[in-house]
This record gives sequence, structure tokens and C-alpha cells, in this order.
Amino acid sequence: MREQFPFFKAHPELVYLDTAATSQKPQALLDAIQNYYVNDNANVHRGLYKLAYDTTEAYENVRQQVAGFLGAASADEIIFTRGTTDSLNLVASAYGPQVVAAGSQIVVTGAEHHSNFIPWQQLAKRQQATFTVTPVKPDGTVDIAALLAAITPQTKVVAVAQVTNVAGDTLPIAKIAAKAHAVGAVVVVDGAQAVAHLAVDVQAMGADFYAFSGHKIYGPTGIGALYGRADLLQHMPPIQFGGEMISEVRDDVSTWADGPIKYEAGTPHIAGVIGLGAALTWFNQSVNAAAFDNEHQLADQLRAGLAAIPDVTVYGNQASLATVSFNLTGIHPHDLATFLDEQQIAVRAGHHCAQPLMARLGVPATVRASFGVYNNADDVERLIQAVQAARRYFH
Ligand code: PLP
Repeated sequence: MREQFPFFKAHPELVYLDTAATSQKPQALLDAIQNYYVNDNANVHRGLYKLAYDTTEAYENVRQQVAGFLGAASADEIIFTRGTTDSLNLVASAYGPQVVAAGSQIVVTGAEHHSNFIPWQQLAKRQQATFTVTPVKPDGTVDIAALLAAITPQTKVVAVAQVTNVAGDTLPIAKIAAKAHAVGAVVVVDGAQAVAHLAVDVQAMGADFYAFSGHKIYGPTGIGALYGRADLLQHMPPIQFGGEMISEVRDDVSTWADGPIKYEAGTPHIAGVIGLGAALTWFNQSVNAAAFDNEHQLADQLRAGLAAIPDVTVYGNQASLATVSFNLTGIHPHDLATFLDEQQIAVRAGHHCAQPLMARLGVPATVRASFGVYNNADDVERLIQAVQAARRYFH
């Protein structure tokens, strides 16, 4: 698997354990982007020559591919965005005001990434709605019972990660959606940390909106998608205006194109879309349930190894997928990460864009190791040994 990633040829000694921040890229993706710019470069949805027509077709084929990947009913439910953050801001700004009014309630968990937290916090402020942040457990995982209990008849939006980005726990979206739908609320799912590590089916889980980023699933940066249920998109106005997204523009009034392109004003990230399609094709061919299991086992191996080291606090539980966060008492996570960097181990240290979670855990930051399809048991062993060495060095 590692041979398919040129990055590891450039860094043969590096143990890369930061896939939750961004994944490395397979050669197949790099070839597709190069081929697009060298052979197929044309704008989409406007030219009448064959090349422009073919590029438009390739671009729209990826929309179909993303629909299939997510289990959406139709390609019309897929909007290309810059990524998860962009997708969630679009739902909050465009759809949010359609359903959230004074006295309404928005529910998020205390473990959300800022991307699935601030847009809802700001919407609640604008609409004078209640913003409810639900509790987390001491290990940083979401308290599901408390989340379900927080949903009331006033709730209009429940916004949750499918997999959280610090503790790596997987939320039971179908259960959450059933409770939310029973009170007439929609469920917005942040899939940023999920898509690369489990099979996604938006219809089966009952997601009303689902957001993800290409770069976390071995694809390019700057591209992602938002799934929105067709009947909900009918009530979602565009919030960006310009080329490509219109039906007719007159001095006094404008009307919008049908379908998702009304949310894609201006020249889109065509190379990104082509690259996303190539990444998903590669993913479908190369990554199977066994690869998901392997990542899960690496996380278990790491949690067990770290738990055996005195002074280490490990967050997450057995249901945590490919991400393990931890701290070493008395050592700032940044110092630990710097020590690990000197051993050629790349992890992330910081608040992970989850300051509300850090506040609940009572820590400024954690160290986070996260896995992709190119990691193996040796990588885990090197990290465990390096943390042991760090403990000896600092204590
Ligand atoms: N949500 C979660 C759970 C994430 O882990 C991330 C990225 O780290 C995001 C949202 C934001 O993704 P992006 O920066 O690609 O928009």
C-alpha cells in the first residue's frame, strides 16, 4: 500500500501519524490531476466545443460518483464545496434560517470540531435561538444518552460528527436521527473523520445533510462535498451569486439554475473535482473492510501500549476508529510532539480545533496520532517506544 504513495519515497524514515489532519496522496490521484491540466483543461458548464463538453461531463460524472459513494438517492443531492468547513457553513447560512427562529433550539455535542460548532453558535445568535452543547465523558467521547435527552420539541437542528476528531469515537447517527426526526429536526452530519475509515450510507443512517473533505480521503485539498436531501435543498436558497448558478438575469430580477450548480457560483475547482473522482475510484478499488479493520487494530494496539506507560492519559475507547489522543502528565503536548518529531514521528499536538472539548477535559491540548491505510504495527511500536523515551527524558 505504501508504495502507491510517492510521499513515502520522499520521506522513507518518517512515521506519518497525522492522517486525521490530512491524508497522503496516491499516485493515481496525482496522475489524474496532471492529466486534467495537460490534456483536458477547459471550463465547465459554458463552452460549446467538444473539450469543454467532455470536461463538463467528467465533472458531472464525479458528482454521480460522490452520490454513489455516500449512498445518496441522486447526484442532484451533491454540492461541490471547498471542504467540510465550507459545506457546514453553507448549510448553517443557507438552510439554517429557513428552520431556526427565535425560541428554536440547535443541539451540538461538546466534542465537535469548530467547523461544526461555530456556524451553529453564530446562527443561534443571529436567530435568537438556544444553542445547546451536550456533555462528553471523561475519556473525551460523546455522552450519547445526554445527547438524545437534549433533543426537545424546540430542536430544529442536531449537528454531530459521525466520527469525532480527538477521541475518534463513532456516533450512532441512525439513533440520533430517529430522535431528531421524531421532533421534526434535521440532522447535519460532519463526516470529515468518517469517510476514510468506514462505509458511509447517508440514507441508511438518516442524515439530512452530510459534509466531507476530499483531502481526508486521499484526495486533493480545496475540494469537498455537501449532501443534502432533495426535498430540503428545495428550500435552501443560494448564498453566493455570479456565473454558472443562474437561469436568467435581468435588471430587476434574477432566477437560479435548477439543481446543485445553483450553489456553485463561479468557476469551480475543476481539477479538485477530477482529483476527488480519481481518489474515490482509487479508494473503492484499494481500500476494503480489511483495511478499515487494520486501522482499528492499530488504534487498539496504540491505546493498549500507551495505557501501559505510567503517567499517560489516553482518550477514546474501543469503539474509537483510527485516531488516538493522549497526554503525558507534566509534559506539554507541544514539547512531546517536538520530541517525537526529532525521532521522525509526525503527530499533531494542540487543541485540534476542538477548544470546547479541551475545556471539558480540563487540558489545553492533547497529542493525537491518527492512522491511514499506509500505517502498520511498526509505526505504532515506534511511537510507543518514543513516548517511553520521552517520559524518561522529561521526568
Ligand atoms: N470536522 C472534523 C471532525 C474535522 O476533523 C475537520 C478537519 O480537521 C473538519 C471538520 C474541517 O475540515 P476541513 O478543514 O477540511 O474543512
